[in-house]
Amino acid sequence: KEKAIATPNRTREILAKFHFSFKKSLGQNFLIDVNILENIVKYAGIDEHCGVIEIGPGIGALTEQLAKKADRVLAFEIDQRLIPVLKETLKDYPNVTVRNEDILKADIRKILLEYFRKDQPVKVVANLPYYITTPILMKLLMDQLPITDITVMIQKEVALRMSAQPGTKDYGSLSIAVQYFTIPKIVMNVPKTVFMPQPNVDSAVLHLDMRDEPPVEVKNERYFFDLVQACFAQRRKTIMNNLSRHFHTRLSKEGIADILSSAKIEPNRRGESLTMAEFARLANHFYDRIG
Ligand code: SAM
Repeated sequence: KEKAIATPNRTREILAKFHFSFKKSLGQNFLIDVNILENIVKYAGIDEHCGVIEIGPGIGALTEQLAKKADRVLAFEIDQRLIPVLKETLKDYPNVTVRNEDILKADIRKILLEYFRKDQPVKVVANLPYYITTPILMKLLMDQLPITDITVMIQKEVALRMSAQPGTKDYGSLSIAVQYFTIPKIVMNVPKTVFMPQPNVDSAVLHLDMRDEPPVEVKNERYFFDLVQACFAQRRKTIMNNLSRHFHTRLSKEGIADILSSAKIEPNRRGESLTMAEFARLANHFYDRIG
């Protein structure tokens, strides 16, 4: 039996055989540590009933470990040069399908419904291309796909921001957006040495459990996310300041102070001190007055 793809030697062999050269612009840092991969699979909680969506299979290091445990795996790979490589490295895994497609352009919902069984829990598991971590995760969340959870390797710094609590330096609009849809948890810190080539940043594995329902009631989601973003536009400034700027064509300072007062939020607070419940209240009050 051949060695796992994710060993340094086998990876080097595969790269040499296909004359593959890494494209930095595509965030190509391949995993070369089977132990780390087994842990990712463990934290993802995959069993033989699961369907898995993988983003960016590379030469198949993670795909192989997923295919061993899951019912079926659907992988999206943008780099056409990797398609013949994956065809060979994953030839013993008939439960894997690779699509040569940009995940940001894919109609994931449609493809998912076609590919997986109706009664099957579907998870997303990936070692993401770091140059588009946030757009990919935001797309998965905003599209409200029928998935149970997401387990991803991302930059540690982004993982910290996504899982940050109010009153910390990492807390911001990204924390709110992610925590509105999911319950995030950093499950593993990962050193640079387990990648080929090594990235410039530290990595972490983030587990995102999809919520059945949002933790707060907002009257208009788009409006809520826009307002949260506005409150963090200049981190050092008060929400009064940030909101004046945001609404400057539509509301006077007095108008804003009045709405803040009816929402019972002190105007001199900073965005980083507001909980999600307070942001929801704020957004709902503004929406009622000037939606
Ligand atoms: N899963 C492999 C591993 O762990 O070794 C490779 C991970 S590597 C960090 C990211 C992969 O995503 C690369 O194979 C890259 O070509 C692919 N990729 C980059 N942008 C993509 C996109 N927009 N859609 C799909 N795949 C993409």
